[in-house]
Amino acid sequence: MNSVFTAEGCAILIAIERFIQEADKSYILCSDSLSVLKSLESLHRKSPTISLQIGSAVIRAIPRSTAIKLVWVPAHVGITINEQADEAAKAARISDVNIYPCISTEDIRKVIFRVQADQGRIQWESTKYFRSFTHLPKTTKTPLLPRRKEILLTRLRTRSLPTKAILFKVGLESSPLCRQCGIVDSNDHLLLSCTVFEQLRNNLRASLGIGALHYNWICTISTFNRRACSAVLHFLQSTNLF
Ligand SMILES: [Zn+2]
Repeated sequence: MNSVFTAEGCAILIAIERFIQEADKSYILCSDSLSVLKSLESLHRKSPTISLQIGSAVIRAIPRSTAIKLVWVPAHVGITINEQADEAAKAARISDVNIYPCISTEDIRKVIFRVQADQGRIQWESTKYFRSFTHLPKTTKTPLLPRRKEILLTRLRTRSLPTKAILFKVGLESSPLCRQCGIVDSNDHLLLSCTVFEQLRNNLRASLGIGALHYNWICTISTFNRRACSAVLHFLQSTNLF
C-alpha cells in the first residue's frame, strides 16, 4: 500500500534507527531519493508522515553520534552493493515478510479512496442502466469538444435528450406526444421520424453520406470523427430544442 516515496523514506528511517548507535562516530547516509531529502529540508506540520518520522528519528539519534549527514547520490548503476540492495528490494516485494510495520496515513487514504471508487464503479456496472460504450475513445485530458457539445452528444447516445416524452415523465410537460405527429416524442422520434425536422434530417444524411439513419449507428460515431460529430451536432442545435 505504501507509495515509492514512503518506501524510500522507510529505508532512511530504518538506517537511522538501527545503525546510528555509537556516540563517538560520524555517520553519512546516502540515498538516491531526492524527493524524501527535499521534504526533510522544509519540515512542517503538514509534511508527509514518513518525513515527520525521519525528522523525529534524527532528533533522537543526535545524542547517539558525533554527526549525522544525509547525502543525495544520483541513481547509481553498476555499484555492487547497490545492485544487491536493489535485488533485495525486488525480492521483498513478492515475499510476505513484514519488513517494517509502517503505512503512511496519506498512502492508506489513497488506497481507501481507490477501493471506494472501484466499489462504486462495480455497483454501477451491475445495474440495469449501465451500458458500455466500448467503441468510444477513453476520456482524454483535453476535451475534444466544448462541454456543451459533449453533453448534447452524450445525451443523444444515452437517449436522454429532454424531449417531450422525458419531460412528461418528470412532470414538466402535460403530454408525451409530439404536437406535429401525435406520437410519443422520444429521442428516436426526434432523430429518425419527426416530420418537423425532415429537411434537417436530409441535410444530416447528406453530410454523413448515408442513405438511411440508424440510431445505434449514430451512437457509434467517435468523438475523434470531427466531421460526423459536427454534422450531428448541427442537426441537434438546428432543432432549437436544446
Ligand atoms: Zn414529431
